[in-house]
Formats: sequence, C-alpha cells, structure tokens
Amino acid sequence: MKPFDPRLLTHAGAARVFLAGTVLFGLVTTGLVLAQAVLLARILAGAFHGKGVASLASAFVLLLVVVAGRALAAYGAEAMALRAASVVKSQLRRALVRHVLRLGPGWMDAPDERAAEATVSGPGELATLATRGLDSLDAYFARYLPQLVLACLTPLAVLAVVGGADPLSAGVIAATLPLIPIFMILVGLHTRARTERQWTLLQRLGGHFLDVVEGLPTLKVFGRAKAQAEVIREVTGAHRRATMRTLRVAFLSALVLELLSTLAVALVAVEIGLRLLGGGVPYETALLVLLLAPEAYLPLRNVGAQFHASMEGVTAAGRVLDVLDTAAPEERTATGHAPEDASLRLEGVTVRYPGRDRPALADVSLEVGTGERLVVIGPSGGGKSTLLAVILRFVQPVEGRTGFDDVPVAEWRKRLSWVPQDPYLFAGSVADNIRLGDPGADDRAVRHAAELAGADAFIRRLPGGYGTPIGERGSRLSSGERQRIALARAFLRDAPLLLLDEPTAHLDGENAQEIRATVERLMAGRTVVLVTHDHTWTGVADRVAEIDDGRLVVHERTREPLAVAS
Ligand code: ADP
Repeated sequence: MKPFDPRLLTHAGAARVFLAGTVLFGLVTTGLVLAQAVLLARILAGAFHGKGVASLASAFVLLLVVVAGRALAAYGAEAMALRAASVVKSQLRRALVRHVLRLGPGWMDAPDERAAEATVSGPGELATLATRGLDSLDAYFARYLPQLVLACLTPLAVLAVVGGADPLSAGVIAATLPLIPIFMILVGLHTRARTERQWTLLQRLGGHFLDVVEGLPTLKVFGRAKAQAEVIREVTGAHRRATMRTLRVAFLSALVLELLSTLAVALVAVEIGLRLLGGGVPYETALLVLLLAPEAYLPLRNVGAQFHASMEGVTAAGRVLDVLDTAAPEERTATGHAPEDASLRLEGVTVRYPGRDRPALADVSLEVGTGERLVVIGPSGGGKSTLLAVILRFVQPVEGRTGFDDVPVAEWRKRLSWVPQDPYLFAGSVADNIRLGDPGADDRAVRHAAELAGADAFIRRLPGGYGTPIGERGSRLSSGERQRIALARAFLRDAPLLLLDEPTAHLDGENAQEIRATVERLMAGRTVVLVTHDHTWTGVADRVAEIDDGRLVVHERTREPLAVAS
C-alpha cells in the first residue's frame, strides 16, 4: 500500500490544490512548532537565570501569538481538508458513474474476467464502493495526508535546528528516528492483507444484501428468506471479526510506536542531562533540545496511527481508481456511416462468456437491410439476448466482424432503440421514464409517444398523471403497463433501428394482442430485429432466422421489405 496514490491527482483535480494547501499549512505549522520551542526555552532559561518578568515580556507575547497561530493553522488545515475531501469524493463518484456507464452492462455481468484484478464485481459492491467506500476518504484527507506532510517536514526541520544547537543530540535523534518508519512499514505489510480482506467482506455483504432484497419475493415463495438471513448474519459476523482484528493490530502498533518514541526521547534526555550536569552544554540549549526532541517523533507516530484509520478510504479509493483505469470500449470520433443508413451486418461473430466452454454465439453471420424486419426464433438459452447484446455493443465478440466496428459506440447507439424483455423503470416520474428515449423531448412529445404506445389512457388515470412517481423497477405498474412505457420510450426515441426482445413474454392473451398491435405500429418504417421463442411473430417478418445453441440459420425471404420513407 502506497502512502499516497498519485492516480488521485489525475482523476480528482481538486486533490492537487488541496495537496499544495496542505504542504503550505504543514510548512507554517512546522515553523510555528520550532518558534514555540525556541521561545519557551528562552523564557524558561531567562527565568532560571533570574531575569525579571519585564525583560521577558516580549518573548511571552510572541509565544502567545505563536500558540494562537498554531491553533489557527490547525483549524485552517482541517477546514480545507474536509472541503477538499468532499470535492474529491464527488469528483470520484461522478467519474465512477460516468465510467461504469461507458463500460456498460457487459462489464458488470462478467465478474470472472475481473476477479484477478480484484476490483468490483456486481452492482451491490459497486454501490457500497461509491457510497460508504468513498465516504471513508474523509479520514484520509482530513487526518492522514496532513499528518503525512508534517511527518516529512517536521523531523527534518527539528533535526536542522537541534543540529545547529547541539550536533550530538541531533545525531541521537537522527539515529533513532528511522526506527519508527521501519516499524510502521513492518506493521503495514502485516495489516494490508487484513484491511483488504475486511473491505472484500464488506463489499460481499453489500452485494449479498442487494441480491436478497431484490429477490425477496422469490425467496419468500420458496421459503428461503430465513436461510438468506442466516447467510447475511454469517457475512456480518465475518466482517465484525475482521474489523476487530484490524483494530487490535492498530492499537498494538500504536502502543509499540509510543514506546519506541518515548525511549528515543529518554535517550536524548539522558544524554543531554548528563552533559548539562558536566557543564558541557548551556542551560538554554539543553532545554531547547529537550523541548524539540519529542516534536521530531510526534508526527511520525501520528501518521502511523492515522494510517490505520484511513486504510479503508485508501483501499476504497484504490478500487475506484482501478475501475476508472479499466479500458472502456473504444470511442472513436470518426463517423463512417451516413445517419440514414440503418442496415446491420455481422460476419462470423463468435461470443464467449468467461467461464463457459460453449460459445453463446458461434460463427454468426447476418445481414439486415435498411427497413427490413428480421424475426429470430429460438429456445431459451439459444443465444437470442446475446445476439442483441452484440448489436447493442454490450458484449464484445471474440471473433468476427460487424458493420458497425468503425462507428463510435455512442454514435451507434443513437441509431438504436431497444425494448428489452423486462424494461427497467427507474425511480422518477412516468414522464421522466418515457423521456429516457429522448432526454430533450418536451411534454407534448412525451404525451404523443405515450398515445402512440397506447399508454396515455392508463397514465392519465394514475393519481398524478404523467408526474406520478414510480418506484424502482416500476413496482406500482403491471407488466403490461411497464411494457407500454418501454414502447412509448421507443416511439419517442424514433430511431431507425429497432431491437425487440420477447415483446409479449410476460403478458396474458388480451394484453398480448394489444401490445402486438402497438409493436407493429412501432415497426413501421424501421429496420427491426425481434427475438422471441414465440413462432406467431413470424407473421410480421420479412425474413425469419432460427437460433439454437449459438448457431444462427437465416431462412429465405418470406416477402420483400416494405419501402421506407427516409
Ligand atoms: P436466450 O436469450 O436465447 O435465452 P442468451 O443469449 O441469454 O439466450 O444465452 C445464451 C447462452 O449464454 C446460454 O447458455 C446462457 O447461459 C449463456 N449466458 C448468457 N449470458 C451470460 C453471462 N452474462 N455470463 C455467462 N453466460 C451467459
């Protein structure tokens, strides 16, 4: 574990200003520490030699100013550190979310590939990392980093001043000082594995909890909710034990560091005391050395203690930075296609999921002309969703070429409209959920799209109309209504290439009939790829393909594609 991760500076610009400020405050504090010792030594030595209060008054006033200055510097440093921490956290959070969105759902679903890098695996763990994990950066910025700066500056400054006053004492300090960092490194090596383990456990807990909450209805039905609670209890217990072990090491190492520095200061005291008795050093010098010696060890000791307190933040930040360093699919800026082109071409595309020996798509070739409707029929697990995922560029083929290889991902997705099997409705209003299809659309366009999707009537009946909030996963709506919202999105998006995944999978007869009519309206004038296990959809196809076990067979045209108005 590095004391400071330089990647923080590249990913969080705010950290740069903060670091400069911290070094500045560190310099000021160090100067004040030295001034305080010099003044104290002068006052005490003066009093010892019988000087009057009047002759020491100016030193007294100066001492008060220095003490007040130290308090101010401490306040300024902490205020700045906390502000910087919040800015850095929000920068990292935003970068994390942006980057994860760019990496796409394929990255999220492929934990095997990333397990070796020990980054994040799964939405629950990502959520823990982005919230609780980054919050622990507060201790890192407000306590650890300023202390680290002081630990670098103060001992050297003290050594310089003591060296000027009494070289022998400086020699003793210089010889004992390195013991503290050496010991800290030894402890650090020991605790590193523990903290990482503690963090892994916490992430697993987060991931597990999310899974359980999401799957609660299913777990209830199958009577497994209790067993899951048991699992959560076990993971919690393991996390508690790991935390206690880390704390134990932290306390023990603090104790040993304390002992080390006390012994070192005692050594200086004995040495300078004996020489003072022998008349080898003047009284004021001896006092100065005695006052300054502990100051050399103090910041080093503190940085050791803060190190443990901020380890969690360091580990979390490290993982966030690992995610940020994961290469996103290439986003080239050159445009290869004219926008009205809505054809689709795959050549010998093979997709393998990590940990699977059979390819999910095997040597698939496919050509869909502009305005053509292809219906892909196949059993569950045949590779239908994977085919759509390739077109959506959520998964990267291991072999083969596609017609959109040269189109930047963002550009390509603009041409697509996707109605998934189980449309995701996020927490927000109904209108916001439809507007996902075209974030810039006004209310009239949203309503018009809803009308086209046959959703307007039921939306108006909702308590708040288009403004009605819907919960996560759209829990208040029926599956037919959710499907209609997804279709309204697609109407609003008005993209030339339409991808449909089992449009009527979860619906009963009557609903299915209505949705089917809506889907056919949506298809008009667009290139369509519809995947389903339901043979009745072949009626709307220009061409039918069958997919099974990752192999695609395209049949002869059943009819010429309808002319498309561009
Ligand atoms: P369909 O949509 O026809 O049901 P899929 O494309 O979902 O089929 O799945 C094709 C094959 O790939 C199946 O064997 C499935 O288990 C596997 N598969 C799908 N997604 C993943 C994934 N994220 N990781 C590993 N295997 C997967």
